[in-house]
Amino acid sequence: MSEHDREKARAIGESHRRHDEKKLATILKSRQFQAIKGVRDILPPESALWNRVEQAAREVFGTFGFAEIRLPIFEQTELFARSIGLESDVVAKEMYEFEDHASKELAALRTLLLAEEPTIDDPQFFWSYEMKVTDFKERLKMGLDRGEIPKTPENERVCEALGPLLDSIAFARQEYEKTSGQSHAARLELYVKQVRNSLSEVRTQVTVTHLGDDITLRPEATASVVRAYIEHGMQNLPGNVKLYYMGPMFRRERPQKGRYRQFYQIGAEVLGSSDAPGIDAEVIEMLLAFFERLKLKGAVLHINSIGDKNCRPAYVERLRAELQKVREQLGADSQRRIETNPLRVLDSKLEHEQAIIEKLPRIADHLCAECRAHYDEVKRQLGLRGIAYQENWRLVRGLDYYMRTTFEITAPGLGSQNAVCGGGRYDGLVELLGGPATTKGIGFAIGTDRLVLSLQESGVGEVSGGPARSAGGLDVYLAWFGAAAQTAAVGLARRLRDAGFVVELPAVEMKFGKSLGLADRLKARHAVILGEDELAAGVVAVKRLADGTQQKLAEQDLFSYLRAARDF
Ligand code: AMP
Repeated sequence: MSEHDREKARAIGESHRRHDEKKLATILKSRQFQAIKGVRDILPPESALWNRVEQAAREVFGTFGFAEIRLPIFEQTELFARSIGLESDVVAKEMYEFEDHASKELAALRTLLLAEEPTIDDPQFFWSYEMKVTDFKERLKMGLDRGEIPKTPENERVCEALGPLLDSIAFARQEYEKTSGQSHAARLELYVKQVRNSLSEVRTQVTVTHLGDDITLRPEATASVVRAYIEHGMQNLPGNVKLYYMGPMFRRERPQKGRYRQFYQIGAEVLGSSDAPGIDAEVIEMLLAFFERLKLKGAVLHINSIGDKNCRPAYVERLRAELQKVREQLGADSQRRIETNPLRVLDSKLEHEQAIIEKLPRIADHLCAECRAHYDEVKRQLGLRGIAYQENWRLVRGLDYYMRTTFEITAPGLGSQNAVCGGGRYDGLVELLGGPATTKGIGFAIGTDRLVLSLQESGVGEVSGGPARSAGGLDVYLAWFGAAAQTAAVGLARRLRDAGFVVELPAVEMKFGKSLGLADRLKARHAVILGEDELAAGVVAVKRLADGTQQKLAEQDLFSYLRAARDF
């Protein structure tokens, strides 16, 4: 190789190295983490608005005698399946479910056993699969004995079944390995036949094992409130039990404005033996008082009654019959719902279905006398509270346990997802979840994300203060210069904060210009300057950043000066 060739090779090598480095850098860069689709961070200063909203809920709901319940984020899947209903979109498509197992190895083994396609016409090769099944069986037994795996009848049965299945596979191999008698081909054929049968049975058994609780991230909280009500025997408490909650909910929906996969709700429930219409009206009154406190503009209350188990089934059948007549004109979702849940067709937002829906029979014309009286009284009670409402016959909650009063509040600035709150009476739910049949319930859930969005859109969600500052903004930027001044500044910052002022204290010494520049950018109201001169004179210099006026004050005067500035 000539010197020239060597040089060329080096250059090519160098270029490859640079190329690889670049590629690696790109990969590393693309590995920056991002929030998962449909979930988001709520950053300052918006988080201050969230706190204000939540604080207002606590205060307003408190005055109506509601107390907070803090609920788990996940529950048994069955709780939601039973309460929300298998036919609902939430349960059928949107829940984040997982099996909460104690043994990762066992779960991995199960996945492997179900995924692997072992070559059964090679007994030697199949041996390793057999070993894995044995391992699975032993770990399963150990898990059951130690109480790490639920002792369900299915699990116990699997444990018992796997032993004989493994024995029959072992027996088939022994027969195959006998060199006397039949030909190799015949022995192999027999082996494959027996093992094929056993293998399919092994797979069935492995599939039905249940390695832990089926768990779901809560898609809503009413089911949890009712579960807690029953679990803690709250039916024995005097009067109605009034609870509110706030926190994240999880639904795997298609993300868009006002629709997230982790979203937040503020909700309240009243549980007790009475279904008096006055309760319905007061719950709605509380909701509107809350919105009023927040100065939410343009909220519209929609109400309806969907009857009860006496009158609704007949209406649903009628609706179904009418829908059958127009089936061909409906979209796929509505067609499916004719069978599963005809009431949900009324929810449809599809343009071409609107005219058809308008002609369908209306529940208001089919309420029984009791439901009609209840609905009339709810309206009267709303009236005596001076609450305006719109009746909306299409407002349904398509779940069996919902009955009578349903309501929804829409707010402006939200586009198509304009429902900021949904609620209704659910007298059958407590019984459905195993509680006393006499307990009635009514509640609502506000979509906090949408409420905040609507407040922001209408301009009442403004939060003062610069980026990443606390709600009221920064009162004092405490600029210090020199080690002695830092000691004094630390003490002064502490006293100011104790007095309730928001103080930013630079952690390191900065040049004067840079420090005051930062005070400006942080939108501080005042820069308090503490240098050697001020220290010697026992004063601080205070600069009002809005107009640059500056004065020297003793510490006690500083406090009254800042207080006065705050009150303006
Ligand atoms: P629901 O539990 O479906 O009755 O919903 C009650 C309220 O929660 C709705 O009126 C919305 O304001 C809000 N909400 C429901 N689903 C979402 C979501 N995926 N993203 C944001 N808010 C939601």
